[in-house]
Amino acid sequence: MLSIFLPHQIVPQSIYRLGITYMDIITSAKGKRWDSILEPVMPYGSLLRLTLQIRLELVRIEPDSHSFDAFSYIHNGILRNQFGTVNLQTWSDGEWTSFRQRFASTIERFWNHKLVLMPTQPWYAYSDPWSVNRIDPSRIGCSLSIQVVDTPAGNPVHFRFGCVKTSDSFRSYASPEWRSGMLSQVDLNQQPSWRSISFKDHFHMVRFQQITAVHEIGHVLMLNHPRGPGGEEWAYGTTYEEHSSIMGAGDVVSATMARPWQQTLDKHLVRQTNADRKLQFSGVLDSNVLDHSWASVNLLAFSKKTLAEMPESNPGHNGLPSIETSTPKGPAGVDWKHLPFTQH
Ligand SMILES: [Zn+2]
Repeated sequence: MLSIFLPHQIVPQSIYRLGITYMDIITSAKGKRWDSILEPVMPYGSLLRLTLQIRLELVRIEPDSHSFDAFSYIHNGILRNQFGTVNLQTWSDGEWTSFRQRFASTIERFWNHKLVLMPTQPWYAYSDPWSVNRIDPSRIGCSLSIQVVDTPAGNPVHFRFGCVKTSDSFRSYASPEWRSGMLSQVDLNQQPSWRSISFKDHFHMVRFQQITAVHEIGHVLMLNHPRGPGGEEWAYGTTYEEHSSIMGAGDVVSATMARPWQQTLDKHLVRQTNADRKLQFSGVLDSNVLDHSWASVNLLAFSKKTLAEMPESNPGHNGLPSIETSTPKGPAGVDWKHLPFTQH
């Protein structure tokens, strides 16, 4: 039988004499905001996976629903909150089923395989294919699992989203404090938004793309907007990089977004020695993502240049996106539209 986890006694004492130590792990943990599982990805443990499991209740809200949360009040087919008033429409059974079924896969496809936790020292013990006992600086892949439940029976839900159907302009939200939020029927689709970014003497309208539900799940993971919590325009950022973040108006993941996994990992590590206590993990972007996705590579290369460095005339230099052609296209699906700044 293949053993994928070594009990203490198998690791030779000489390893301890060399000052190298390894840690016991706790496989599963429960939490108020999510449960989590830490497990080896392969029998040979140079890579583990930490999966945050969020149990979500999706509430189908119809025009005849009468309900409210801390932010919105629904009565007589109308939803009211600080952003305004929207008229509710009826979900067909097919629309609702499809929305519900697509929810988990849409979120997971975005967040999975993007972030990795890198350790500062060897910590994980396993037997390699030649039965040699090893202690390695094993990496931990950050993974997300969404479980959609209808009625919270047994295990309490971690978060609840009301889901509306409307053709009015609707602003979705998620409140980590209240562990509730509101989404609409279009929130699993890529949607464009235009943001104004200024440099030199010009404002440029930049088109970003985002799946709103993916952004809202970022809030469920306790991630903030680039400039901190709050729904005001400035919170989404002022620079191109801030706007392009999944927690801004775009769809880019950054290493700092590994924080929920980084913090959860502490629940899974049994720290006993001083060496154990020194062990730290830092979040990095999964190199496979960068190597194999031309879009990410282009976008990162582009992000290194500040907008102020962009050539004013003869745009399109140095692989930068053209900003003055009639249907300009930027990297990673970002479109640019040029607006002249009238007076300076
Ligand atoms: Zn937000």
